[in-house]
Amino acid sequence: MLTEHGLTEVADGVLELRLPIPFEDGTVNVFLFPDGTEADLLDCGMNSDDSVALIKEALAGIGAKRLRRLVVTHIHPDHYGAAGTFAGEGLADLYIHRLEVPLVHPRYVELDHLVSEVRTYLLVNGVPADDAEELSNSQRALSQVVKTAEPAVQLDGAELLELGRRLFRVEWTPGHSPGHICLYDPHEKLLFAGDTLLPDVSPNIGLHPQSTPDPLHEYLDGLRRLAAYGPKLILPAHGRPFTDAPSRVEVLESHHRRRLDQIVEIVGRGKQTGWEVALELWGLREHFYEKRLALQEALAHLQALAVDDRIKKSVTPESVRWTPA
Ligand SMILES: [Zn+2]
Repeated sequence: MLTEHGLTEVADGVLELRLPIPFEDGTVNVFLFPDGTEADLLDCGMNSDDSVALIKEALAGIGAKRLRRLVVTHIHPDHYGAAGTFAGEGLADLYIHRLEVPLVHPRYVELDHLVSEVRTYLLVNGVPADDAEELSNSQRALSQVVKTAEPAVQLDGAELLELGRRLFRVEWTPGHSPGHICLYDPHEKLLFAGDTLLPDVSPNIGLHPQSTPDPLHEYLDGLRRLAAYGPKLILPAHGRPFTDAPSRVEVLESHHRRRLDQIVEIVGRGKQTGWEVALELWGLREHFYEKRLALQEALAHLQALAVDDRIKKSVTPESVRWTPA
């Protein structure tokens, strides 16, 4: 049901708002939970004028005079960007998983250390020096659409959170980001899936300086756990709500299984660096951002294969090499 102010009532007491993502042609879904003259919000879009205005209009439209809680699924700019506009001193309380908290400052505030760490990471994984220089700086533009906020509550997972007039359980689902969370209502079997379970795309799972050490295994474990709950309705951060979680999870799992097999074959042909493997898989990407995602995704699969002892990983200060087991 579409109401005024661009809001869709996707479940009882849950309003979905679709926000634009600057620099990309896509939208991100955030969710408003009204409670009288107050409201809570799950994710907040980027900190761009039009996106922030849409949230303010929506709040005014439902008669909410105060935003009480802002819960953020993870710190990627399309989910966390406007945090500092809506949360902090005198504003809403920010709830975020504690593994996301230490990522914020190096990524969005003082970038120099992370940029040099990323440059080293790119070089040891086989990226040519010129590309490494540009790729390591490609993150800088994003800090312009992010306004950071101090968290009021750092989550571990398994907490019960009241949003609007509803109660949800925090589900920690690392992989796409170390402290990614989903929210679940076990009574109505309603799942807010963030970027973990999407209807149309496979979210980027990458190994990089700010990821956990084995993100692909963690991601797949989280997917299986969510599928086992048997959610009736999944509300993703991108795309339309959907219902059949187990079959969507099976599609995602088999996608990664095929990719793992493909990489074993590529490594068997003598490709040794993450960059070489990424080029075999996807060819030369045009955009720097895509190149980085491709490398990260290849490395997450290589790491999972090494953990499972299907390939060998060797490291020196100069290089990371993957060879047949
Ligand atoms: Zn994301």
